Amino acid sequence: MTTITQRLKHIQTQIADAERAYMRRPGSVLLLAVSKTKPAEAIAAAYQAGQRHFGENYLQEALKKQQELGAYDITWHFIGPIQSNKTKALATHFDWVHSVDSFKIAKRLSEQRPSHLPPLNICLQVNISDEASKSGIALADLAQLCEQTAVLPNLKLRGVMAIPAPQQDFEQQCQPYKTLYQAVSALRQPELLTFSFGMSGDLKAAIAEGSTIVRIGTALFGERDYGGSK
Ligand SMILES: *Cc1c(COP(=O)(O)O)cnc(C)c1O
Repeated sequence: MTTITQRLKHIQTQIADAERAYMRRPGSVLLLAVSKTKPAEAIAAAYQAGQRHFGENYLQEALKKQQELGAYDITWHFIGPIQSNKTKALATHFDWVHSVDSFKIAKRLSEQRPSHLPPLNICLQVNISDEASKSGIALADLAQLCEQTAVLPNLKLRGVMAIPAPQQDFEQQCQPYKTLYQAVSALRQPELLTFSFGMSGDLKAAIAEGSTIVRIGTALFGERDYGGSK
């Protein structure tokens, strides 16, 4: 068994254990393998072990890997910051975009989604605790952006995404997710079923608080080496 296969099995077990521990429906949490900075071979190894959903942060890097892996039946998720000059490629080459944080970007993605493809799945990124980062909308702006994006014809609004500031303590890890989950529930928008949160360091807390997609990089593929060239 390869290292990636063993790690994948380990993460799947952690997810299943957390689903049981926090009374989540078995199989209700999707594992998104975050492959940024990792070569196509690493994706292929995870694919061979059964993984189908992969997340990328950098457009050019992702497009290159998509080409190399053209024969694979992969569902591609974009989870990185979005510049408006990249929306056409995102709308064309991805199945999901988790990091939508303005109406302008959402509108461009809808307009640029090719007509032969199904609506693009999107999540709205909410800045829940990480004041240092500029990515994501404020919780107070979520209701309005939901309303605006829900009517765009070539998008399917699925839910929310968050990247809180890293915490060691379990209760502190839970707090921002709890806040976001409650705020979304209060909106009473039945289509908002996706909660894209939880990474290698806080997967359990995220599942405890309602995550439906955990985005796991390091625990699956090992530490990333940016080598100054991201
Ligand atoms: C890199 C990244 C991840 C994965 O983080 P790990 O800590 O390596 O699991 C998840 N989500 C986003 C948005 C990322 O950029």
